[in-house]
Order: sequence, then structure tokens, then C-alpha cells
Amino acid sequence: MRDPDLDPGRRRFMRLALAAPLVFAAGRKLRWLSDAAAAVRPESRVLAPTPECGDDDEPTHETTAGPFFKPRSPLRGSLLEPGTPGKRLVLTGKVFSVGCHPLAGALMDFWHADPEGEYDNVGFRLRGHQYTDREGRWRLETVVPGLYPGRTRHVHVKVQAPHGRPLTTQLFFPGEPRNLRDGIFDPELMMAIREQGGREAGRFHFVLAS
Ligand code: FE
Repeated sequence: MRDPDLDPGRRRFMRLALAAPLVFAAGRKLRWLSDAAAAVRPESRVLAPTPECGDDDEPTHETTAGPFFKPRSPLRGSLLEPGTPGKRLVLTGKVFSVGCHPLAGALMDFWHADPEGEYDNVGFRLRGHQYTDREGRWRLETVVPGLYPGRTRHVHVKVQAPHGRPLTTQLFFPGEPRNLRDGIFDPELMMAIREQGGREAGRFHFVLAS
């Protein structure tokens, strides 16, 4: 039996497959080289791609903050505390300007309901702020938010570039039965989510108008 690795057709296919990320990275997409590399990982193939900066230069949509925002949340990239119940959730992404420049030092303030659908309005449980790094990246460790009456599953966030205007919005989860019955739901604000070692991993890139 022939070794498939020696088959000329297969070798040609492999060359094309290896070249594809480089073609994709050409021109204005150069900054997405690392994401292009990530896109060929097997576990990423089934995901619908997150809208990328530069696809339409449109700023991230705004939505209501709702009644549960509290200023002066603690500075932390992980909202997990000892004994925090719930399925682990890790969210990552970047913050860009409309010109596709990564925004370093952008303030991101997250808050969401606990697995029972309750907000902590006394303390700061499941609330925290952080700043994007030099490449505009952010990462949040938390748990999957619960549902509460009238709303689908969501994470609240305010994002503000240094000296910029705050963007208030919410991030949504794909495949939620309540998405289409929630008047605040916006498909443009849906994260790419995948299972990763017993936890959920979500990805979203923000684009700020100012
Ligand atoms: Fe809410």
C-alpha cells in the first residue's frame, strides 16, 4: 500500500494548506497572522468566525447598561473567588480603533449575574475591571452567567480607550433559546464560544469609534 505522505496529490494539497495562512496574512490582514494560525487548529474549525476588525470598520454596537452597574469595581482579570460556583468561562479578545489599530490601556469593566441569575448589588462579586495590554488584548476568567426573568444569557461590559468615550454593551452566547425572545439581544454582539477542557472559552473583538 502506498504511503499517503508520498502521494504527489497529497503533497500538493499540504503545500497549499501550509501556504494558505501566508496568503491570508498578506496586505491589510497582516496583523491577523496569529488568528489565522489559530483558525487552522482542529478545535476551531467548527466555529463561525468572530467579525474581524476591518471587515466593515463598524464600531461595536452599544446596548443598555441595565440597572445593575456599580462603579469602582476591583482591578482584576479573574472574577473567580474561593468557592465561586458555576461552570468556568474564559473570555478573550482585543480592542481596536475603527482604523484597526489595537488600543493599549483601554479600560474594560465587566459585571454579570451569578449562576442563579442574581447580581451582587452589595459587594463586588462577579464584577471587575482591567486594562488591555500593549497589543490591545484582554482576558477575563469567570463563570457562565445565569438567566433571570426577561433576559437571555449575557455579560455586561463598558469599554473605554484612554481619553475616549465609554462604550456600554453586552456580550451574548450562541445557541441560547432565549436569544430571539430578548429585545436587547443583538447578533452582532454574539461571542464565538467553544468547549475547552470542561470550561467554556469565548472570543470577541471590540471596535471603538472614539
Ligand atoms: Fe444583566
